[in-house]
Amino acid sequence: SSIPKIVILGAGYGGILTAQRLQKELNYNEADVTLVNRHDYHYITTHLHMPAAGTDSIEHARVPISKLIDEFKIDLVKSSVKEIRLQDRKVILEDGTLSYDYLIIGLGGEPETFGIPGMLDHAMTIRSINSVRLIREHIEYQFAMYKNDNKRNRIRFVVGGAGFSGVEFVAELADRIPQLCKEFDVNPKNVHIYNVEAAPSALPGFDPELVEHAMNVLKKKGVTFKIGVPIKQCLPDGVIVGEGEKIDAATVVWTGGIRGNALLEQAGLEVMRGRVKVDEYLRAPGHEHVYVIGDNSLVFNGEGRPYPPTAQIAMQQGVNCAKNVVAAIRKKQPQPFVFTSKGTVASLGKGEAIAVVGGKKYKGWKAAQLKKLVDLRYLFIIGGIPLVLKKGRFFG
Ligand code: FAD
Ligand code: NAD
Repeated sequence: SSIPKIVILGAGYGGILTAQRLQKELNYNEADVTLVNRHDYHYITTHLHMPAAGTDSIEHARVPISKLIDEFKIDLVKSSVKEIRLQDRKVILEDGTLSYDYLIIGLGGEPETFGIPGMLDHAMTIRSINSVRLIREHIEYQFAMYKNDNKRNRIRFVVGGAGFSGVEFVAELADRIPQLCKEFDVNPKNVHIYNVEAAPSALPGFDPELVEHAMNVLKKKGVTFKIGVPIKQCLPDGVIVGEGEKIDAATVVWTGGIRGNALLEQAGLEVMRGRVKVDEYLRAPGHEHVYVIGDNSLVFNGEGRPYPPTAQIAMQQGVNCAKNVVAAIRKKQPQPFVFTSKGTVASLGKGEAIAVVGGKKYKGWKAAQLKKLVDLRYLFIIGGIPLVLKKGRFFG
């Protein structure tokens, strides 16, 4: 048939928003839309630090994709993408092949380990439902082991990187430890959390006053910071930092950064840290039918600096990308992508957070309420009131 085929890879923040907008804007029989995702659920990455630490349930961090899209309008394919063949306009899946006229790549990032020896093999990362299940189980297992192995006299956790992911996770972990100590009859004095950061400050680049507040909150919860100390190696039983000091720890969680999906580079696209520098319409240079969004894309601001990869920009890109694909099909003029920052809100565990919104700084309880609002707003955008009621956290 002559109906154009649109294939969306990845049902993350970018992919879901694109799919939902296409579903709304396309007329009947104007295009075939296929959404490919490794799982039949969408996970709320921005919430994963909580189930990882065990302070919230896994189910609050995922939603069946069938609840988010209209399956009469969009074909959902649950499969893993293995290869993108740009010349042939085909996508190779683990169990089949799809051809496309328009491709939207929103496969999300991968942990960036900067080639640190042992990191890929021995550290865990917060990136999917499956990866956080492992962290959660691993944490509990350490407490169970401690009571059954006489050689263990302490339980130590190392979190590598004090960016937003590291800090948000450490905060949850610090909230979780007292519960686990009670449950497993462990003296809290024997449990230690280290957050190791290479840069001269935690949350590099963020408002210094709020960074200080965050560190004070976390120190009070029992976190030990090592700032200006790079992790040099990861071992099965700890990390080597700075000039060769070893921190023993059975648990190492790496939050040292993310890069683009390896499939992009393998497809022959030019990348920086795995990300494609897209044109003003979010297309891969030289491939006007291929759009790249979210953590896989690189967009520069007016001053020539790349925007950090966030859910916020991925969502806005999803909306813009859908518009531009529809415009291309209708042979209309596309719209340049312009990012509008809504601010930054980061949680610091129960009842605490830091935020910069509309140029104003917030901390403590107020910021924590803002964080909840941001989370509820997202649920509302993708699933309306029913999803807000089902997955939203209003208290605690
Ligand atoms: P993702 O949301 O990562 O989605 C990618 C999708 O592709 C997934 O569904 C995945 O299963 C699928 N996929 C991957 N590979 C394949 C494959 N080969 N085949 C098929 N499917 C595949 N940003 C904010 O703006 N605010 C926050 O508060 C915030 N908090 C965060 C907290 C944590 C703990 C973390 C880790 C990140 C946080 N971020 C936050 C960053 C934000 O989550 C990411 O920028 C965002 O998820 C990127 O969206 P995306 O659409 O590019 O990819
Ligand atoms: P990041 O790149 O922002 O932070 C990684 C941190 O690890 C940096 O501070 C870096 O200096 C440090 N690091 C790197 N190598 C190291 C080493 N060898 N030893 C010790 N420290 C090392 O990554 P992230 O925190 O995962 O965030 C990824 C993206 O997601 C960012 O754009 C961030 O803004 C976004 N995010 C936002 C929120 C929020 O808004 N609440 C929460 C989480 C993530």
